[in-house]
Amino acid sequence: MFKKMNKKVAVIACCVLTALVCAAVYMTTLPTKVSITYINFLSKVDKGMVDTVYLNDKPDIKVKLKDGTVVYTDNPRDEGFKEELLKKGVKVDEMEFASTWQNAVGFGAGILIFGMIGYFVITNTARQRSGGLLDISVVSNGQEIDRGISFANVAGNEEAKESVSDIVDFLKEPDKYSKYGARMPRGIIFYGPPGTGKTLLARAVAGEAKVPFYAMSGSDFVQVYVGVGAGRVRDLFKKARQTGKCVIFIDEIDALGKKREGGGISGGNDEREQTLNALLSEMSGFKDSDGIVVIAATNRLDTLDEALLRPGRFDRHIEVGLPDVNGRYEILKMHVKNKPVSDSVNLKKVAEQTVFFSGAMLESMINEAAILAAKRRARAIEKEDIDKAFYTVLAGAEKKDRSAIANIDRKITAYHEAGHAIVAKLISPENKVTKVTIIPSTKGAGGYTMNIPPDRMYRTKKDMEKDIMVSLGGRCAEEIVFGEDNITTGASGDIERATETVLSMVKRFGMNKNTGLISYDVLYKNSFNGINDKILDECKNKLDELYSEVKSLLIENMGKLDCIANALLEKETLEEEEIDSIIAA
Ligand code: ADP
Ligand code: ZN
Repeated sequence: MFKKMNKKVAVIACCVLTALVCAAVYMTTLPTKVSITYINFLSKVDKGMVDTVYLNDKPDIKVKLKDGTVVYTDNPRDEGFKEELLKKGVKVDEMEFASTWQNAVGFGAGILIFGMIGYFVITNTARQRSGGLLDISVVSNGQEIDRGISFANVAGNEEAKESVSDIVDFLKEPDKYSKYGARMPRGIIFYGPPGTGKTLLARAVAGEAKVPFYAMSGSDFVQVYVGVGAGRVRDLFKKARQTGKCVIFIDEIDALGKKREGGGISGGNDEREQTLNALLSEMSGFKDSDGIVVIAATNRLDTLDEALLRPGRFDRHIEVGLPDVNGRYEILKMHVKNKPVSDSVNLKKVAEQTVFFSGAMLESMINEAAILAAKRRARAIEKEDIDKAFYTVLAGAEKKDRSAIANIDRKITAYHEAGHAIVAKLISPENKVTKVTIIPSTKGAGGYTMNIPPDRMYRTKKDMEKDIMVSLGGRCAEEIVFGEDNITTGASGDIERATETVLSMVKRFGMNKNTGLISYDVLYKNSFNGINDKILDECKNKLDELYSEVKSLLIENMGKLDCIANALLEKETLEEEEIDSIIAA
């Protein structure tokens, strides 16, 4: 019986392979399929993340998200489905993109075959792993078989790759670490905008270490019945423990572990909490030598519940940011591999024109371009295909991203960030400015990363003043270069920070001669009134004084400021050595 089965499987597999080759002839580009659960899909619709749904009569439907990613979900085949979507502002397309019947057949066959192969791979591997006992519920809501993705499939993101390289080593040889009593992080959080490759990187960690990859999404639990989510988490971990070493990936962890905002959250809260607790207790349950690593992804780190971030839980946080021009070039190169591209396309130029694009948007742009070329039956993807695809992807981007892309004045951002960097370096050469960038991060437009060594117990008055000067450097550079009337709102965060520092100097630390060695907080507690104006005056004076110091510093070093800003415009990101060499010049 079993032998017969295997033969059958082999015969079908052969047919499938042949069919696949035939289909490949029709299709120049077969999209790789990413499936999401129907519940997850509905929540994406509600959150306004869905751009277009392509209706058909296949078992699953294609969904284009606003960030350009294409995913698939179960086809509800419901009469009212279309109207429901239209009411929610989702575009509905009943044509798919096939213009000829050949394309349609090719595409259909492709999908069908992919589905069948996926099914065989999953059932066979799962059968092997669990020794014949196939737990459908776990397979269908989590396990994915690693498809040999490695770091080579992740372009750009060098820092993030480096930050997880020790995890890969740990997964390969957990005993090596447990012997020394070294504690490896159990939980890692990847944070950054959507489509920047967090899932891809998690997969690559599993692929590099050659361990299985289990995935689930936090949003899968939001709408299910109480208790189900927690049960699923326990199932998943049970399965993982049986497998031994593995990577468990939890996408959209914020759906489970969002910070509680005063007052109760209605509905689904219990479920969320139970699921979260199940997750945390499972995580504290495994030993280091088990070699299980949980990687979670979120768009925003600051919205997560602190309970999640405590030591022993998700205590390593790795930013996976938008790619800079080099990163974009690498990603583009990767995605045009195996696609015919004409000489009219200059990928370096394309990389320059796609500021703010995520990896997923770049991938989807190349894919759109390939579809356009295929429609025209052209020999290769031409420049105008890419141009058209660029606008298609841009139009699909979230409104706020789109306006950011349209309005971006890279030059202002470049001078602003250069201002911070140069002030930091000039006033204390021992400051490490590890990175300056004009690429927006989760924290806002551009940014600089600074470590202020050495770690000391106390901060001096001078330290705090320097801190304020660095904060003011951005705005000051804007003013000097573009004129007083052209300063921007980009400095709001800096001004907040400077205000907080100066206020605490005056109010709490007795660092101002005119207001004296008085804790104003104590005064307020004892009902002293009418001292606000005095504090305000002193804060303002101090900030003015420091601002003019910054101003003369920047004017004196105008040449260096120009150099850094220009280098930023060209490369978008500068590392410490590059900044140092410009400043030393
Ligand atoms: P996230 O999990 O951050 O939302 P994904 O990992 O799902 O993003 O990325 C979606 C797709 O975008 C990937 O499957 C890949 O095709 C493409 N992509 C994103 N980042 C990169 C990258 N750094 N290198 C290559 N491809 C990328
Ligand atoms: Zn700033």
